[in-house]
Amino acid sequence: MSIVFDDVSKKYNDYVALNQVSFNIDPNEFVSIVGPSGAGKTTLLRMLLAEDKPTSGKIFLNSIDIHALSNKDIIRRTIGVVFQDFRLLPQKNVYENIAFAMEAAGRTDEEIESDVPHVLDLVDLGNKIWNFPNELSGGEKQRVAIARAIVNQPDIIIADEPTGNLDPVNTYDIVQIFKKINDLGTTVVLTTHNKGVIDSIGRRVITVQNGCIVRDDLTGKYIL
Ligand code: ADP
Repeated sequence: MSIVFDDVSKKYNDYVALNQVSFNIDPNEFVSIVGPSGAGKTTLLRMLLAEDKPTSGKIFLNSIDIHALSNKDIIRRTIGVVFQDFRLLPQKNVYENIAFAMEAAGRTDEEIESDVPHVLDLVDLGNKIWNFPNELSGGEKQRVAIARAIVNQPDIIIADEPTGNLDPVNTYDIVQIFKKINDLGTTVVLTTHNKGVIDSIGRRVITVQNGCIVRDDLTGKYIL
């Protein structure tokens, strides 16, 4: 699934958070979006998730203008999301957190029973299936969040500062998991402040500053 931003601007009152941003992401790319705090990275992701509308410009998923859709279900089905603060349900164990996302997508009990262990193996967390979030480390929580984001097989994973709360060892492991997911055919778009993350991914980097794209490098070096 391709992503196209066509001349997208976003203003909050008079403040310009995104200024005429245009770029394309091809199916199965791994793109990091970097830039200082306040540059507009989260705003850009929120526009892509249709959580908020651009002030002008259009965003297309496979030629579909997502902000012209009255029903946003296609976006929920197409894009899985991972957050810096994990956002797991504290009263549910690991199995139930992932099952819950599958139930919301209308999957059957049989699918849930077979897919939850499988997706936990993919993120190397099969041994924590019955634990609750408060019994997991930050890195383990983020693995659960990634498993939940991919279990319904979205075309695209979006991750907003997914390693922001993790130590260097867990950061490295989480980056390896995103690389594996990308190798299996899912587009990955993540934001990060972390130069080490960019360097270990070694793929395309879009740099945002003051709401504008100031660099777009295919070789993956963090320049700022
Ligand atoms: P980043 O993710 O790069 O740190 P953001 O996209 O969160 O940047 O924010 C870009 C700018 O837009 C910031 O100056 C922020 O204060 C402003 N902004 C973001 N969301 C809102 C909002 N809902 N209302 C007003 N200003 C906002």
